[in-house]
Amino acid sequence: MNELQELFNNNVRWAEAITDEDPQFFEKLAKQQSPEYLWIGCADSRVPANEIVGMMPGELFVHRNIANVVLHTDINCLSVMQFAVEVLKVKHIIVTGHYGCGGVRAAMNNRQYGLIDCWLRNIRDIYYEHSDELNKLPTEEEQVDRLCELNVVHQVAHVSHTNIVQNAWHRGQPLSVHGFIYGIKDGRLKNLNVTITGPEQVAPQYRVLPLGQ
Ligand SMILES: [Zn+2]
Repeated sequence: MNELQELFNNNVRWAEAITDEDPQFFEKLAKQQSPEYLWIGCADSRVPANEIVGMMPGELFVHRNIANVVLHTDINCLSVMQFAVEVLKVKHIIVTGHYGCGGVRAAMNNRQYGLIDCWLRNIRDIYYEHSDELNKLPTEEEQVDRLCELNVVHQVAHVSHTNIVQNAWHRGQPLSVHGFIYGIKDGRLKNLNVTITGPEQVAPQYRVLPLGQ
């Protein structure tokens, strides 16, 4: 049997289950999407965005990469953010990390993994910045998990530093940036309560004036 056949079989069952509930579901969805949330999460297969928060297709705009990193030079992530904020007008950007993240773990040791070392370098910087706090934790697992949280906090700040988000605020568009963390061991999502809703919560060095000022 074709190794991929399972995927198509599952797909047929999934699409049928949805149309059983709402026969016009896909017809309506094909006309437009109007998600209220942009999810920026880890690519880890154990952290599927829609399933965790019980969202149907059309309800969550998603960008995932290894270790949910938001870099000001990453044209991919920034393009997703720009489209989500300026065209879809999402109200919330949610950076979601997860405990036990392999990317975060890799950034904490001195082994070489190749190209990915460059991608994870930003997390290594966060590790260095918080090394005093992290070194006080008794086990490696606790250190990894705390760095997973700190990584989310930093990436939330990075989102708020973009001109995409700050221009939305200048226009008076309601937009909040949140940091969540997911527990692979218990399936629970936790709000890290680091929400940023306006430029006054952004450090002055990272604020941008409205265009033309
Ligand atoms: Zn991860």
